[in-house]
Amino acid sequence: MAKRQNHKIVKCSFCGRDGSEVGSMVAGPDVYICDICIGSSVDILKNNLAAYNNNKTKGYQVHTPETIKKTLDEYVIGQDKAKKVLSVAVYNHYKRINSKGSFFELDDVEIEKSNILLIGPTGVGKTLLAQTLAKILDVPFAIADATTLTEAGYVGDDVETVLVHLLQAADYNLDRAQKGIVYIDEIDKIARKSESTSITRDVSGEGVQQALLKILEGTIAGVPPKGGRKHPEQSLININTKNILFIVGGAFDGIDKIIASRINKNKMGFGSDPLKDKTTEDDLLRFVLPEDLLRYGLIPELIGRIPVSAPLKSLSKEALKSILTEPKNAILKQYKKLFIMEGIELEFDPFAIDATVERAMERKTGARALRSIVEDFMLDIMFTLPDKENVDKCIITKDVVENNAEPIFLEADRKSA
Ligand code: ADP
Repeated sequence: MAKRQNHKIVKCSFCGRDGSEVGSMVAGPDVYICDICIGSSVDILKNNLAAYNNNKTKGYQVHTPETIKKTLDEYVIGQDKAKKVLSVAVYNHYKRINSKGSFFELDDVEIEKSNILLIGPTGVGKTLLAQTLAKILDVPFAIADATTLTEAGYVGDDVETVLVHLLQAADYNLDRAQKGIVYIDEIDKIARKSESTSITRDVSGEGVQQALLKILEGTIAGVPPKGGRKHPEQSLININTKNILFIVGGAFDGIDKIIASRINKNKMGFGSDPLKDKTTEDDLLRFVLPEDLLRYGLIPELIGRIPVSAPLKSLSKEALKSILTEPKNAILKQYKKLFIMEGIELEFDPFAIDATVERAMERKTGARALRSIVEDFMLDIMFTLPDKENVDKCIITKDVVENNAEPIFLEADRKSA
């Protein structure tokens, strides 16, 4: 039978002092630590924490999720859920990078990278969100279109081209490139065509997903510095993708039906219509699960590497109106600036703004249509304006937007009269 330990022979497992030499002793299962060693440990931890914080300000500054979201709000209208998801994921990502080499790395808990999936219709701000994030964080940013990528050896761009663009965005600073952000658009277009594996090779679908998987999970990829296809004699730059944050986006047309059928199947037999209150595509996207992406045609390994997903909503009339006027670099603000440079004040009648939004809604391409509509009706005005004399103010009316009519020009002396 084990004897109870006599406190006189209890020794600190760290410094070896016995109970009589110290003020107090804390016992764990078969270990003891004295108050002196506890004091020293606290000092070590404090120093390490200070070094970590110091490193944080020296290295990649970690903005808090709230400050990230606030800055996103200045450029991107609406999409609150996606902004929150992105802010937290990006915050954790850079915290993870900053923890490298600090005492937080000493335990065995490894924080994994959280690549992000943005899912929502075209023209609602997916690219803009990724772009704005890179601006806030001051890291290199590259955009790629998944549809132009093919498996190595086939016609099209190798998946590594994405990394070449990032390296170029970082001015060939490898260290910066390795901590950058890559946005891959139209990821839904490389879904495999059917759930069952086919005997013919799916060059632009599954093959590309496999190739993307490698760089998403972290690999050392050899890239030709100038881009293009790799060839054997070429010297390659090795890029480690472990700390590159990948944001992938896609519209996933038709995934709403997959989600709906899953929800209906799960709720069958309960006598209610679970989709009654959530029939819109937007609402259904909130319920997307990995299994829906799998049914859509993404391979399970790739889905596993994109653990965070953020749904984006289609834009309402109000949102489109705000996009025209509110963001820091709103389209109408840009035109006003161009006019001011000519010495002319530009005003958009509220009815003209409504008419522009109406036309954009008809095109069903989200905010993407806004710029081309505005450019269209502004073209003639911009063409003749520099040669007009005495104009001090230009007012864009609904008639200008709808019928390309002449805007109202106010002359300098009339305005001041
Ligand atoms: P997608 O969702 O297809 O990636 P983009 O982000 O490329 O769409 O948006 C296309 C254009 O529309 C952008 O240049 C941007 O100016 C504008 N835009 C789209 N959504 C928003 C938004 N939520 N807030 C502000 N501008 C937006």
